[in-house]
Amino acid sequence: MTMKIYIDGKYYDREDAKISVFDHGLLYGDGVFEGIRIYNGKVFKLTEHIERLYRSAKAIFLDIPMIKEDMGNAVLDAVKINEKKNGYIRLIVTRGEGPLGIDPSPCKKPTVIIIVSDIQLYPDEYYKNGIEIITASSRRIPSDSLDPRIKSLNYLNNIMAKLEARQSGCLEAVMLNKEGFVAECTGDNIFMVKNNKLFTPDPYHGALDGITMRTVKEIAESLNIKTHEATLTRYDIYNADECFMTGTGAEIIPVIKIDGRIIGDGKPGIITGKLIDVFKELTCSL
Ligand code: PMP
Repeated sequence: MTMKIYIDGKYYDREDAKISVFDHGLLYGDGVFEGIRIYNGKVFKLTEHIERLYRSAKAIFLDIPMIKEDMGNAVLDAVKINEKKNGYIRLIVTRGEGPLGIDPSPCKKPTVIIIVSDIQLYPDEYYKNGIEIITASSRRIPSDSLDPRIKSLNYLNNIMAKLEARQSGCLEAVMLNKEGFVAECTGDNIFMVKNNKLFTPDPYHGALDGITMRTVKEIAESLNIKTHEATLTRYDIYNADECFMTGTGAEIIPVIKIDGRIIGDGKPGIITGKLIDVFKELTCSL
């Protein structure tokens, strides 16, 4: 089965799926995107992803040339055509083709791309044994410069943080905001557990309004575990009982060491385990 990629209403084979070198998505990272999961042939949290895509687009003055319902149907159609039962969807809307200057106003037609593929962000053993992360020196873009809720194509500072993680022999990094408070990881939200309560940085501190983060909060509520959106420093994470990251691609992954400090007893925590179990049940029963 060859991959069929959707570009502006037509499907192309992987080798033929190409966009203009004048697309401002390429030239300036000017565009928005979503990463979405397919479990058992069903698209997980499709409405939430479509809503976030349109909110991101509105915030950057990008007028998506389709109504939300048609966008949702295009995603479902792409999944069907690719016959994908379990996988990952990358939905991208770029500013479209225009002249070389940064002014987006001459870009007349946004480009809509849907790629249906596979994803495994981390090896299986990390889900079982937990992952070690570092704090990156690259900071999040301040919220008053670019709202962290905008899921834009511009990930350069996250990429820098990811490279720092790789150079330290880790796969992930925590990013702080300019005040030094914990914001999120390079492609995931972060949670910690202290005294049986869940804490995650207040999104204003520079975190994406994660759909998995929201799902985890709902699961926690159903388990009578309280979640607080808080102001967290590295000290709080160092002294946490448990820590984990959440994201569409990563799902829920335990963190057992940060900046050389062992978190809790150095093993994935009990509450983290419970949340992972319920999350699995939720995605398996779709
Ligand atoms: N933060 C960042 C920077 C992300 O790119 C993502 C998505 N990969 C997340 C958090 C997690 O968000 P979600 O659960 O909606 O995938």
